[in-house]
Amino acid sequence: MATVPTAIHVEVLPARLGDCLLVECPRPDGTTWRMLVDGGPPDTWPLLEARLRRLDPADRHIDVAVITHIDNDHIGGMLPFLASDLAADVGDFWFNGRPHLPVTAPDRPRSVDQGESLVAALNGSAEDPLAGGPAARTSRPLPWNAAFGGGPVDTGAAGGFVEVAVPGGPTVTVLSPTTKRLARLADTWSKSLRAALGARDREVGVDVLGPLDDLRHLADARTPQDSSVPNGSSIALLVEHRGASVVLGADAHGGVLAAALLGVARARGGEDLRVDAFKLPHHGSEANVVAALLRAAPARHYLVSTNGDVFHHPDDAAVARVVLDAPAGPTLWFNYRTPRTERWADPRLVASHGHHVAFPDPGHADAGAVIDLPARR
Ligand SMILES: [Zn+2]
Repeated sequence: MATVPTAIHVEVLPARLGDCLLVECPRPDGTTWRMLVDGGPPDTWPLLEARLRRLDPADRHIDVAVITHIDNDHIGGMLPFLASDLAADVGDFWFNGRPHLPVTAPDRPRSVDQGESLVAALNGSAEDPLAGGPAARTSRPLPWNAAFGGGPVDTGAAGGFVEVAVPGGPTVTVLSPTTKRLARLADTWSKSLRAALGARDREVGVDVLGPLDDLRHLADARTPQDSSVPNGSSIALLVEHRGASVVLGADAHGGVLAAALLGVARARGGEDLRVDAFKLPHHGSEANVVAALLRAAPARHYLVSTNGDVFHHPDDAAVARVVLDAPAGPTLWFNYRTPRTERWADPRLVASHGHHVAFPDPGHADAGAVIDLPARR
């Protein structure tokens, strides 16, 4: 039997409570289009660095590195990455910094000036010229939102989306944030950045695991919507290549993501957007994984990135919604095997709901969840 070539390869690296994803799309010419999405919290860096240094030196180019939003569990590992030689191999950084935020003066262009430093914007030294030290001020400027003409990565109004076609590679569609969510970040930028750079893990109590005997009750529970301003500013993406597709939900708000996915579906003449894989937003939080989102983009594979630290993600309500509302027989891919995630593989639960559960290979737990989506054309 001929093996079907992989169209999209996704690695959800073990980044504790955060996100750090590597996405690869093999091209017909033998090269690879590659995207890094976030760097996890600071202690993810050694693992991320080791992973990137294992790439074939002849083909280790990173076409796009995305910094989805300013939260410690996403940018922590990105700061040492930016300071390393590996950053020079990146074709374009996608990140909404202060220059991209809508302000009250409507004619001011939301764009970075040539030479404006992404590193300074992200490490806070652009806010405080004395804080970054000489290195931050003299380092070579990195390409920043070049695919968007230096402007913001945003979708405009709710339900909007922006497609970026890569010649010979995938089509990447921006699903979040809306301009309105970026405007909210403008009001809290300095505070949010300080919090992201200075965050220490909060101490929380032990994880109390409830029963999973009534999933309908769990799924239907009225749960609060995520109101975090940085989360709402998340860059969420749809990556499509050779007929395969994956949604990378970052920590985006469920309603924003759902509206954009429906926008894409309707533009293509459909009522929903069937995708192969969906990296659930906000580590499987019940405040983001809402029923409307799962209906907008039914998937065969759901990826969850968290070890449950601090926030005890994924929430049972979120996973219950996936198990009950996704098309028959979805596979849940957890990038950590924890007492919380392990329960979803209980044979009785699996038998009664028909889902599948995948954990990292015990011999290669450092690889996290690794999934290959086959080409359809
Ligand atoms: Zn997060």
